[in-house]
Amino acid sequence: MKKKILVTGGAGFLGSHLCERLLNEGHDVVCLDNYFTGQKQNVVHLLKNPYFEIIRHDVTTPFFIEVDEIFNLACPASPIHYQYNPIKTMKTSVMGAINMLGLAKRIKAKVLQASTSEVYGDPKIHPQTEAYWGNVNPIGERACYDEGKRAAETLFVNYHKQNNVRIKIIRIFNTYGPRMHPNDGRVVSNFIVQALKGNDISIYGDGNQTRSFCYVDDLIDGMIRMMNSRDSFTGPVNIGNPGEFTIRELAEKVIQLTNSSSKIIYQPLPSDDPMQRKPDITLAQKELGWEPKVQLEEGLIKTIEFFKSVI
Ligand code: NAD
Ligand code: UDP
Repeated sequence: MKKKILVTGGAGFLGSHLCERLLNEGHDVVCLDNYFTGQKQNVVHLLKNPYFEIIRHDVTTPFFIEVDEIFNLACPASPIHYQYNPIKTMKTSVMGAINMLGLAKRIKAKVLQASTSEVYGDPKIHPQTEAYWGNVNPIGERACYDEGKRAAETLFVNYHKQNNVRIKIIRIFNTYGPRMHPNDGRVVSNFIVQALKGNDISIYGDGNQTRSFCYVDDLIDGMIRMMNSRDSFTGPVNIGNPGEFTIRELAEKVIQLTNSSSKIIYQPLPSDDPMQRKPDITLAQKELGWEPKVQLEEGLIKTIEFFKSVI
């Protein structure tokens, strides 16, 4: 059945892949974005599809439309961008959630929140299950993002309990792939761009901190499965790749796959940078029949090809 679907943050990295996938499935897609970190270029190839529309709008102000489903992705995701204007970041998460939940309530739409592994902060249990409450510094550099996303989860759960809004919450772990912004500042894009340009590879700290990297196609598959799951399953559910790598291992892999002569340099670790991150995906496997298929090397090769074409 053809559905009318709103994607906030649709011109960003994940949003543009989501819009493309939903259009390919035959849906009518409205992409809403204020272009803070997203770009028209990410979705311009979709404009020839008559079932695709883009609207410039900021989610901190109310928006009116009739749709069946809402994917709420609007929010800068890279630390340099979300720390650029921390008050705005928090407004985007909190007021954006209130506006999208209010819309969903009024038009009886189903609404999915793109939450994050950052709700676990610098985790004291490993790997992270959805039952873990997290270890977040409420006044640190990352708080505008982490606490904003945590407050958004609270709002989602309470609109569900109080107003019967059909909600879905996914906690996304570090995701990478084509259409990441080359200056986005996240580790995968930074390392690939540095390696391709022959610049030094900047490891923050000693490089022993870990992350688990999910390829974008797998992530989008998990996100759509969550939206289509039974109404009583609201989440939160972890969506990420359990393969865990140190940042030094990632740097070495990128150097090897790009055949680069770049050297690794060590720079100060930003404050509150989590030491480890790995999703327990048992719940996603059970409820959504989902697990990632693309392993790190295969995903990095595709991502390197993309960056070769844009830099
Ligand atoms: P991105 O920065 O590429 O995309 C975010 C999009 O939201 C951009 O197009 C931006 O212009 C738009 N936006 C920001 N503020 C807005 C506002 N006030 N009004 C309207 N649009 C606004 O980031 P991404 O990686 O595509 O992340 C998408 C979502 O997924 C975010 O909510 C992010 O928190 C979440 N997430 C991503 C990751 C990841 O690894 N990529 C991990 C965890 C969570
Ligand atoms: N990082 C790094 N060099 C870079 C960018 C990031 O060593 O050029 C590190 C960063 O300190 C963190 C990890 O890589 O430990 C992942 O950083 P990213 O900003 O991609 O995501 P997040 O910290 O939000 O998981």
